[in-house]
Amino acid sequence: MKGKLIIFSGFSGTGKGTIMNELLKRYPEEFCLSVSATTRSPREGEKEGVAYFFKTRDEFEEMISKGEFLEYAEYVGNYYGTPRSYVEERLNEGKNVFLEIEMQGAMKVKAKMPEAALVFILPPSIKILAERLSGRGTNTEEDIRQRMNQASREAEGMTRYDYFVINDDLEKCITDVRNLAQGNIPDDLPDESFLKNIKDELDSMLKGDL
Ligand code: ADP
Ligand code: 5GP
Repeated sequence: MKGKLIIFSGFSGTGKGTIMNELLKRYPEEFCLSVSATTRSPREGEKEGVAYFFKTRDEFEEMISKGEFLEYAEYVGNYYGTPRSYVEERLNEGKNVFLEIEMQGAMKVKAKMPEAALVFILPPSIKILAERLSGRGTNTEEDIRQRMNQASREAEGMTRYDYFVINDDLEKCITDVRNLAQGNIPDDLPDESFLKNIKDELDSMLKGDL
């Protein structure tokens, strides 16, 4: 049986990496994570082939021209892309594959593979998102501002996702995501008013009101 492709998106700093790491550590037989290629520089502690395959722009563009990506996109001035062969091989082995990618890429994959589940991870509030971004200590003020602007653009498209999960209590979030991957939809996922609230908070934050 083929595995399930789960596309995992959310504003930068929401906790996607943290959630994924826990799921992979706890349930290595159930999940695997596609490692993307990127042209951005490694953050402290990020290892080649684990966090990303770090490439120069020339190397990345060569991979594009050879058709090696399932999808790729530009985000905050850098390329990010999903190597095709790894994903196809793991799905054929029956594994559930997570793609932790931003929205443009997510939509490209969904168009090619409509059976994929689009999952959007939300922060409990935009204030908490800002705290997580600065708490991570690996982004400059300018980078954080750019990521908030990007979040505001992504908020416009998030309604195209199939499922929304709030990363407030990490354990609950991990359980919710695992349930979704198994086809069990939790009955307390956030509703439209929560999404609207997040959008409004982002607008206020960018206007300097929050
Ligand atoms: P992303 O991969 O979405 O950019 P990260 O996984 O790097 O986000 O998380 C951003 C920061 O938020 C990290 O410092 C992480 O430890 C912290 N974090 C993640 N989930 C939670 C949570 N549920 N509660 C508090 N802090 C969290
Ligand atoms: P970061 O620089 O914080 O690691 O990632 C920035 C954004 O790029 C995040 O939203 C992340 O999900 C996204 N991203 C990571 N890998 C890929 C990829 O292979 N393709 C696309 N389209 N986006 C990716």
